[in-house]
Amino acid sequence: MSARASSSRWCWGGTGAAHEAARRAAGPGGAAVKFLLVLLVVGVGLWLFTKRLRGPAPPRREGGRPAAPPPAAAMVECAHCGLHLPAADALPEGSRLYCCDAHRRLGPAPRPPA
Ligand SMILES: [Zn+2]
Repeated sequence: MSARASSSRWCWGGTGAAHEAARRAAGPGGAAVKFLLVLLVVGVGLWLFTKRLRGPAPPRREGGRPAAPPPAAAMVECAHCGLHLPAADALPEGSRLYCCDAHRRLGPAPRPPA
């Protein structure tokens, strides 16, 4: 393994030819370094620009929208015991609802304030 091959390995991809040309044309000096710096800045700028344009890719699922959840039944609270039950199963008594006939007969229970 030669030193030249290993030294060209750390060079960023795509600019190998330009890198060599610049080094040959400018010789040992600041011109080649400047050229490389400009290339680096432009490359990073382009990379950031394209990255920003694309943005974070949203995860896409096959099959379109996820299935909508089934419509939840309206839940009511028993005025006596506080049990939550479907409105269809509740027993109305006046403006209050109860879970069973026994609680309907007992009426609303006085509950301590929360
Ligand atoms: Zn109840």
